[in-house]
Amino acid sequence: VRRRKEAGYCFYRAEMNRRAREALAIEQAMLGALAADEFELSYQPIEEMSTGEIRGLEALVRWYKQGGECIPPDHFIAHAEESGQIVELGEWVLRKAVNQLAQWQLMSGRSLAMAINISPRQLLQPGFVALVREVIDSEGIQPGTLELEVTESIFLDEEVEEQVIEVIDSLRALGVRWSIDDFGTGFSALGYLKRFPMDVLKIDRQFINDIHTDMDAAMLCQAIIWMAKGLRMEVIAEGVELPEQHEMLRQSGATMAQGYFISRPKSADVITAQLQGMDKP
Ligand code: C2E
Ligand code: CA
Ligand code: CA
Ligand code: CA
Repeated sequence: VRRRKEAGYCFYRAEMNRRAREALAIEQAMLGALAADEFELSYQPIEEMSTGEIRGLEALVRWYKQGGECIPPDHFIAHAEESGQIVELGEWVLRKAVNQLAQWQLMSGRSLAMAINISPRQLLQPGFVALVREVIDSEGIQPGTLELEVTESIFLDEEVEEQVIEVIDSLRALGVRWSIDDFGTGFSALGYLKRFPMDVLKIDRQFINDIHTDMDAAMLCQAIIWMAKGLRMEVIAEGVELPEQHEMLRQSGATMAQGYFISRPKSADVITAQLQGMDKP
């Protein structure tokens, strides 16, 4: 028994070492990546369900290493959060996405919105509010067309609760909108919905997956939509892949939808071409 335990321990240690090495490798590769211009943004359209029109886009970061290999955000965002590199990367994303938004609003004559993912470390960085304010001013966008997405994890840490509320309130006072990303996947209870005023609730893909085949899933999704609306939040259904799901969500009263059924994330050039093809309002 003893030997088996030791073997397990060794395996555990080896696995830890492997992960630590991998984390370090990613961290080091990221050091030069911003300067070398290796990051890019993809944009995924978000549809207004009542009209079928594109209401906005979510900016999703991509890392194209020299040689063309694309590393998905799930492989480096957590490391960047851990190492603190997310602060610099996040600022780059914010500037790039808002600059792009200003161009697209001008070009299309529409008040398109831009949703940007904000990680906890970035939100808690001193100067975050000032940075967002500066970017809004310098690009000349309406603050209400900027949506900042945070996951429920930000509401879990009581030690920073006051700071989080202050950041949310300050930017909200400007007109910036806040979204709860991946709703229902965090380990938080619902109490935070009372303490933190949020504008948009994004229902995670896992609650959308089987609404067209499973009555209980459909009920749960419907309940989330009613709850959000009762709290005066707009609702975005994420990960909508099928026409059946889209139709059910429309009937359930979801305000907006996002997912492969509407569009995959696209490069800025492709979105530009699509917006040019749209009628001006
Ligand atoms: P997220 O914010 O939940 O973004 C949605 C993810 O779901 C995207 O993956 C998107 O490509 C994918 N998706 C969209 N529609 C569908 C669908 O119909 N079916 C399926 N199966 N997937 C769909 P992506 O681009 O790989 O991003 C993964 C995560 O990385 C994001 O999840 C977000 O948490 C994080 N992330 C991406 N960009 C940034 C960023 O600039 N800053 C920060 N802090 N995090 C980011
Ligand atoms: Ca998001
Ligand atoms: Ca999400
Ligand atoms: Ca997610």
